Amino acid sequence: MIFKKFLIKYAEIGVKGKNRYLFENSLVNHIRHSLKRLEGSFQVYKEQGRIFIDCLADYDYEETVDCLSRIFGISGICPVVEIPQCGLEEMGRNLVEFVSEMYPAGPRTFKVCARRSEKAYPYDSMQINREMGGMILDAFPDWKVDVHSPEVELVVEVRKSIYLYSLILPGAGGLPLGTAGKAMLLLSGGIDSPVAGYMIARRGVSLDAVYFHAPPYTSERAKQKVVDLAKIIARYTGTIYLHVVNFTDIQLAIYDKCPHDELTIIMRRYMMRIAEHFAKEGECLGLVTGESIGQVASQTMQSLACTNAVCTLPVYRPLAALDKQDIINISEKIGAYETSILPYEDCCTIFVAKHPVTKPNLKVIEKSEENLKDVIDELMEKAIAEAELIQCFQ
Ligand code: ATP
Ligand code: MG
Repeated sequence: MIFKKFLIKYAEIGVKGKNRYLFENSLVNHIRHSLKRLEGSFQVYKEQGRIFIDCLADYDYEETVDCLSRIFGISGICPVVEIPQCGLEEMGRNLVEFVSEMYPAGPRTFKVCARRSEKAYPYDSMQINREMGGMILDAFPDWKVDVHSPEVELVVEVRKSIYLYSLILPGAGGLPLGTAGKAMLLLSGGIDSPVAGYMIARRGVSLDAVYFHAPPYTSERAKQKVVDLAKIIARYTGTIYLHVVNFTDIQLAIYDKCPHDELTIIMRRYMMRIAEHFAKEGECLGLVTGESIGQVASQTMQSLACTNAVCTLPVYRPLAALDKQDIINISEKIGAYETSILPYEDCCTIFVAKHPVTKPNLKVIEKSEENLKDVIDELMEKAIAEAELIQCFQ
């Protein structure tokens, strides 16, 4: 069956009160922008709490649905048949035709679910349900009504036109991108941080990112992997500006001057400081990391408290309460997992101590950092000044 129209459902935006139109307009713009890259010609408009997409030319159905399913703010994607407003007889004829095209293999259990937004329409939803149900049973004697768990729910929405559909393909949920502001993601090559970025972006937050590498201890391929991950997230978030910071000299200084069991914590504190610099420069309202409580020594509550202590912006840790398997499931769902598990070295793993502290004390850590005071300002300035900016898009 070839559909010429999609009806787009959005859930949460519906409850945003006076700001609702801002969310709706933003979503419409995102849909327009995303569809531009595809084959076909689309017209996107909103009407009575719904967004509609008219497909004006030949288009690729799979590609279009795939694209729509990555747009935050959409809760459901319904390919619909539109007919002009008409009486029940005509409506029923169209519904029967719709069913025979959609479900040629029949017989099915079904129910009709009518919605009448156009209150001037002379029949209410109960009458429509009854009449349409009867006409379907007449046309397809093998079909059966099941109001509790039907295989097929035939939806009839009466608006200015009448819309017939039975598929509600899942949307990405969340809120339209950018409606909440922007945050800086600390993106490594692992499994966790891309998932963290995706989860925060889903709440309407657009992202910039920062990656710390340590050449020649980390390779060009490790960096490329992070760029690839940024591109994967960009399929949901649009273009991500990735700051690539050479962290080698800072790491060597820490290695040289600080107790080895505190290396990871101190290193992470400098990562946060530099990330925050770029965040403020880019007008980000927070930092995002892939940390999860207790996952490793640097992610105990004590360690996180020490890392957090250097930040003045809020740090969002959407994975804080997730188990590894939950994180992996999301990583697979968003298409990042295969890339994340490629075995390239990370700067954190190279200068790591055999027995890192698991319950660091902030005073002790701050004292150790004093050993760096003669060199660190200059090293940080240099790392910031020489950072590379890479534009990552799908
Ligand atoms: P991930 O799977 O995201 O790499 P991880 O389990 O390896 O996380 P850590 O190495 O302790 O955990 O890193 C915790 C978080 O710190 C990461 O999720 C990421 O947000 C940030 N981070 C770690 N290493 C880097 C890096 N090289 N560049 C940028 N951010 C980093
Ligand atoms: Mg890592």
